[in-house]
Amino acid sequence: MYDTATLRNRAQSLLALKAIDRVLYATKANPNASIVQLLQAEGVGMECVSRGEIENVLAALPQLQPSNILFTPNFAPRHEYVWALQSGVQLTIDNLFVLQQWPELFRGRELFIRIDPGTGRGHHEHVRTAGQASKFGVPLAEGAQLKQLAASIGCTIIGLHAHTGSGIFDIDNWVQTAHQLAGLAAQLGTVRTLDLGGGLGVPDGADLSTLDLGKLDEALLSFKQAHPSLALWIEPGRYLVAESGVLLARVTQLKQKGDHAYLGVATGMNALIRPALYGAFHEIVNLSRLTEAHTQLYDVVGPICESGDVLGHGRQLPPSSEGDVLLIGTAGAYGHSMASHYNLRQIPDELLI
Ligand SMILES: *Cc1c(COP(=O)(O)O)cnc(C)c1O
Repeated sequence: MYDTATLRNRAQSLLALKAIDRVLYATKANPNASIVQLLQAEGVGMECVSRGEIENVLAALPQLQPSNILFTPNFAPRHEYVWALQSGVQLTIDNLFVLQQWPELFRGRELFIRIDPGTGRGHHEHVRTAGQASKFGVPLAEGAQLKQLAASIGCTIIGLHAHTGSGIFDIDNWVQTAHQLAGLAAQLGTVRTLDLGGGLGVPDGADLSTLDLGKLDEALLSFKQAHPSLALWIEPGRYLVAESGVLLARVTQLKQKGDHAYLGVATGMNALIRPALYGAFHEIVNLSRLTEAHTQLYDVVGPICESGDVLGHGRQLPPSSEGDVLLIGTAGAYGHSMASHYNLRQIPDELLI
């Protein structure tokens, strides 16, 4: 279930940043058509990572000019670039291979380049998207080669992009990225826009850090005073949608094995894989027993045939019964979008309220 007021609130808090010229929504966090429409109506642009995501956005927003979509593919096949260039979306290249091997595609084009600024950050190894151990981006040190390649092909690099990871609370991440990209922009001479990526952290109940947007705005405003010709964009996913969504599931069965009490619910890693994939923490509440004392420790598990199918380890909850409704919090981002039919179980329905 998604709460539209929360969606609007998160969009407005980012659109209010004075230093940021454009907020794009990384639709991979949640491509739900109503969410895409709501965020676009608030004034948020769209960032997509596949042809499927672009087609999904255009189906939800038939009036949208494709040039308003930023397309950031990674190791995609050549034909996807051919299609993207024909469709008119703004393309981001994240590997010099693409320019070296398929130069004819890019003659006369205006391109963004995704840069790897060297240090990845984020809540888990799998979401740190910079540094040598990550597959993303053109290393910052290859700037001279990039400039030469663009000149020989006859394309213009109008934007630089970096996305270092997900679940980041330290504002230095975006400020440092801005300075690093600005250095390269000065070297290239044609860049008008710096896209500082997403990754804005969301408190999840275990780690109650919060992101100080005011401080981020202040730091980026002083960056902009020094670089008045560069527009600044950000492209968060999780920040915009995570807290608007919750997963609801009914208790199916209970089991005691030695010290372990298991509380089973009707859906698990097939609906929300983040705990299994990243060890992510999601708050769990028994909605049917809100006023009862939390006297029982449970491992809250789903029905999937994997030992990793655990939504929460050792959670203090009221003694629960079959049929109770559990709420799993901050499930609006990378929940439904990463859901699968594994075990041929159904993916939960989505509702906006
Ligand atoms: C996933 C992704 C984002 C959004 O990350 P969040 O942590 O959800 O903000 C932004 N840009 C790119 C290129 C991404 O791959």
